[in-house]
Amino acid sequence: MKFHKIYAALLFISPIACAKTLDLNLDKTMPAIEKFYLDLHQSPELSYHEQQTGQKIARQLKQIGFDVTSNIGGFGVVGIYENGDGPTVMIRTDTDGLPIIEQTGKSYASNVTITNDEGATVGVMHGCGHDIHMSSFIGTAQQLVQHKDSWQGTLMMVAQPAEEVGGGAKAMLKEGLFSKFPTPDHVIALHVSASVPAGKVSMKNEYTMASVDSVDITVKGKGGHGAYPHTTIDPVVIASRIVLALQTVTSRELSPLEPSVITVGSIHGGSKHNVISDEVKLQLTLRSYNPEVRLQQIAAIKRISQGIALSAGLDKSLMPEVYVHEDESIPSTYNNPEQTNIVRNAISSAIGKDNVLETQAVMAGEDFGLYGRTEQNIPITLFWLGGVEKSQYIAAQKSGQTLPSLHSSKFAPDYKVALPTGIKAMSNAAVALFNN
Ligand SMILES: [Zn+2]
Ligand SMILES: [Zn+2]
Repeated sequence: MKFHKIYAALLFISPIACAKTLDLNLDKTMPAIEKFYLDLHQSPELSYHEQQTGQKIARQLKQIGFDVTSNIGGFGVVGIYENGDGPTVMIRTDTDGLPIIEQTGKSYASNVTITNDEGATVGVMHGCGHDIHMSSFIGTAQQLVQHKDSWQGTLMMVAQPAEEVGGGAKAMLKEGLFSKFPTPDHVIALHVSASVPAGKVSMKNEYTMASVDSVDITVKGKGGHGAYPHTTIDPVVIASRIVLALQTVTSRELSPLEPSVITVGSIHGGSKHNVISDEVKLQLTLRSYNPEVRLQQIAAIKRISQGIALSAGLDKSLMPEVYVHEDESIPSTYNNPEQTNIVRNAISSAIGKDNVLETQAVMAGEDFGLYGRTEQNIPITLFWLGGVEKSQYIAAQKSGQTLPSLHSSKFAPDYKVALPTGIKAMSNAAVALFNN
């Protein structure tokens, strides 16, 4: 009996039981964070061009007291803050914008335009909310340093470029993110949500975002005159058959219990009404959670393409070429359940249980998943930070209209509510992981 009482008392004073919510004095710091957000929003840079953005992050982290290294894996930035013995917790933000002309009508909308590699003028916008990620990231760094007596260990702030092209995480890891710097014990990130109201967060254990692969199929044929099809082998017809047959991979070949998407997003062939061409090009995106499913998808695409080409009478030398862009391949994001439970509990205490929602997995992808797929097998958690302005959310619920999605030119997160929520959520999640 006595032993149990002592044990219960010890449990009560253990760090987990005692982990209480940080008392954040955000009123003082929010004006500067909002200013930082508006500056980032008005100066977005495209993937692989995030030089100024990286410098701004580096400057902020240095001011807070971090040991900062720039230009890791492109314009990636790593900030290290050592605070005694304890685990290393890595918090990641992404930094790139998108080639979108902003149409939110906001006074602070981005007017940035650039000339792309093809010579065309394109707008640039933080249409995926990475400016929200960066400013709550800096706010979190400030709070964690201010409240350094609440945790012990190494805080690793990572600003990753080129998320939108699936290149940044890969490049940072390749340049020694987990070897030149402390290897993290925990990795966390947030992503703004275009469907969750501001003031709330949502998350899910296990698979939360899909793997992404880009695949090209070059279908060959024997061209000729459109009036003499019998003298040709028409690649437009072969490509059309392939597109239709690919619809059966998910529906007929894969387990109905395994999510899978195969979308043919682009088909190009021919040059004129009366010419049968020699070639048609297809561009596909593949999504899945289970790595086995990804391999099955790729094998089926190769087999079906070749089978249809053979059935059309094409010679073995003219088989379709299937090219998987392995360099752009992104694995699915798997939220480690134990770690995600700790994160969920900490955020519930910080912003209220009612403000923490469960969500479903999506077939969109994130290169964040890569941080959990290295040989160190580090647990990762990505949660969604509500971004939708409350009245807009209620109006959409009533009318049944869809809200502007991420990557929409009209996506305008409610930063005044989302930013402090993000800072509270992330700071408390990090402290809980340090004290775990
Ligand atoms: Zn995006
Ligand atoms: Zn994004």
